[in-house]
Amino acid sequence: MLEKLMNGKIKVVIWNEFVHERESGALGDYIRNIYPDGIHRSLAQALAAEDLELTTATLQDEAQGLPPERLDDTDVLMWWGHCAHDQVEDALAERIALRVYRGMGLIVLHSGHLSKPFRRLMGTPCRLRWREVGEKERIWVCASGHPIVRGVPETFVLPHSEMYGEPFDLPGDGQVITMSWYEGGNVFRSGMTFQRGAGHIFYFSPGHETYPIYHDCNILKILDNAIRWATPTTIVPELVTPSPVSVEPILTVNPLADLDTTSLHK
Ligand code: ZN
Repeated sequence: MLEKLMNGKIKVVIWNEFVHERESGALGDYIRNIYPDGIHRSLAQALAAEDLELTTATLQDEAQGLPPERLDDTDVLMWWGHCAHDQVEDALAERIALRVYRGMGLIVLHSGHLSKPFRRLMGTPCRLRWREVGEKERIWVCASGHPIVRGVPETFVLPHSEMYGEPFDLPGDGQVITMSWYEGGNVFRSGMTFQRGAGHIFYFSPGHETYPIYHDCNILKILDNAIRWATPTTIVPELVTPSPVSVEPILTVNPLADLDTTSLHK
C-alpha cells in the first residue's frame, strides 16, 4: 500500500481483486511483466498527485479491503475485478451502493461491468459482447468539453485490446463520454457516466490485464480527470427511514392505536 499522504486531500481507494497478476505459469509471468505489483499499485503510482490521498485494497485484505470505517472515509472508489466477482460479499456490495447514494464517487474499470456493486447500482444485467484476440481499439471522445476528457485528444488508438462490444445492456440514463471502435468492426460505449443519489459513477472499459493499457498516457489522463469529477462536494447523511413524527398534525384516529404493532416493522 502506498504511504498515506496528508489529510484534507481527496481520499481515493483503488480496489483490485488481484487474482490474475498472481497466477502461476507463463500467463501469470506475462501479466506480471506488465503489472509487477498488481494493477492496483500500478494505477496508484501512475495517478499519484499532490491533491490525492491514494491507497490500495484487494480482495485478499481483511474485510475484503473495505471495512465499514474505511469505506465511510473514502471519497472515490476505483474498482477492478474479473474472475472473483462472486467472492465479493453481498453485504459489501450493498454497503458500497449505499455509500455511492450518499455521495461517494465510483469508477468501475473494464470487467468490473459484471461486478456486484456496479450491477446493484445499474439494476440491469450489464452484459456485453467480447472477443480476446489482441485487436486494435480506437477511442473517440463523444462528450467534448466534459471534465473527464479534458486534455484528451479527440481520438486515440490502443494497439492491442480486448473487444467489448454492443449491445451493452445498461440503463438508459447514462451519458456517453467515449465510444470505441474495434478492428473487427464492433463498437462500444466505452466511457459512461451515471448518477445514483448524490454519487457520480464512471464506467470505463479499456483495461484488459494482458495489455499495458494502464500505462497509456491518454487512459491515465481520463482516469485522473474522472477522480476529480467523481469527488463528492458533500456526503449526505445516512437516510433514516422510520418517520414517526409528522410535520403536519394527523387528525385521523389510528384504528390500531391500542395494538402493539412493533413486530410488523422489524
Ligand atoms: Zn478482460
